[in-house]
Amino acid sequence: MRNLLITSLLAVSVLPAQYKAIHPQVSKIAGEVSEERIAAILKKLESFGTRHTSSSQDDPVRGIGAARKWIHAELQSYSPRLQVSYDSHRIKKQARIPADTDLHNVVAVLPGKYPDQVVISGHYDTLAFPPRRPGEAPAGGGLDGGPRPPLDPNADAPGVVDDASGVACVMELARIMSAYEWDKTLVFIAFAGEENGLLGSTLYAEKARKAGALIEAVLNNDIIGSDTAGNGRIENYRLNVFSEDPSDSASRQLARYIKDIGERYVPALKIDLIFRADRFGRGGDHTPFNQHGYAGVRFSTPSENFSNQHTLTDTFANASVPYTARVIRVNAAVAASLALAPKAPVVWEEVEREGRKTSNLMLGRGKSRYDAHLRWKAGVESDIAGYMVVARSTTAPFWERETYAGNVTEFLLPGVSIDELVFGVKAVDRDGNESLVTAYVPRPRARAKVDTQSDQ
Ligand SMILES: [Zn+2]
Repeated sequence: MRNLLITSLLAVSVLPAQYKAIHPQVSKIAGEVSEERIAAILKKLESFGTRHTSSSQDDPVRGIGAARKWIHAELQSYSPRLQVSYDSHRIKKQARIPADTDLHNVVAVLPGKYPDQVVISGHYDTLAFPPRRPGEAPAGGGLDGGPRPPLDPNADAPGVVDDASGVACVMELARIMSAYEWDKTLVFIAFAGEENGLLGSTLYAEKARKAGALIEAVLNNDIIGSDTAGNGRIENYRLNVFSEDPSDSASRQLARYIKDIGERYVPALKIDLIFRADRFGRGGDHTPFNQHGYAGVRFSTPSENFSNQHTLTDTFANASVPYTARVIRVNAAVAASLALAPKAPVVWEEVEREGRKTSNLMLGRGKSRYDAHLRWKAGVESDIAGYMVVARSTTAPFWERETYAGNVTEFLLPGVSIDELVFGVKAVDRDGNESLVTAYVPRPRARAKVDTQSDQ
């Protein structure tokens, strides 16, 4: 009798007690982010004078060549487990590249148990326009840019906030995380050619897609080093995270995850999700990944100083190390949580319909035709405790309800209309680590073509 009771208790799948709790390893990682190290990285990158993509490749102390060699060597020094390499391309002369040039992204891979990747990125190239003459339009391009003066790629372009701060995030996380074991593979990338039209990230994302790389998330950091805007607005306890439409894209699910995890581990920082691909009229290195169907977001300060943007005053003196450190701690907590968690559930299946193979969203109305019947594929990880079904109204920005389904691959919500809500599902492992949510999003209806007499 006693044995029977225990067996039946064990058969009930219970949500792990650590769910939504602080995971000690994640907390430790976030705590290891060092302001001293960040300051040293920012100052060192500034010391190369310029890191313009077309600046010197061979000068030992000045230009992009010296900078990339230093980043490569630093990454290599952190751990023998980091596989450091250049992702190299020959770029033809074009609008923002005055002559054919070599472009090298610096990539460090920390292999995990699974091939699924979490990418942390920033760009190490810089851009600075010469100081404007009185009466000239402000430098910087974009919405406020006037005619640009000719640019000498070997002139000074310190680029500390844009984007040595993002590179500091890449390097600091590579250093800290390479001392631990992870389920997923971590990829740390310092991109080149961002300022010349997202060249490095575009080529990298295209190659990754062709190779079938399983990139689960791209955490792109660009302009995370400033806490005081040009109008005096100081926002040193807020962070913007940009994600791509539509509202249930993989990018948006990643953004929701970042807010949840980031504010849990770095409660001092309020994370504002901006439901927009990037700053107004601007782009970043997460964009090419989204274009290839990967989930990418951009971390950026809400207090950008436009007078320092792409100018000689984007210096260490105008950067905030404590603010940069807070943003890097958010990255650390998110990357660590994702790297420990199961992968997001799959909610599409291949079926045969009228003799043709087609894919089917695993959401229906159940036998009654008035219920919500959700199905998903079982994850491959052996430590999955179960699955959490989430829902929200179609107009709500965040998930509103969670129901623990247990270790099953289908769930019925009786009397719930699938027309009125958005549904999603995530996997939870025995340590309480949660995966990204996969939302049940139908494909948009294809444009119809109706044959009429006039076609004949
Ligand atoms: Zn930038």
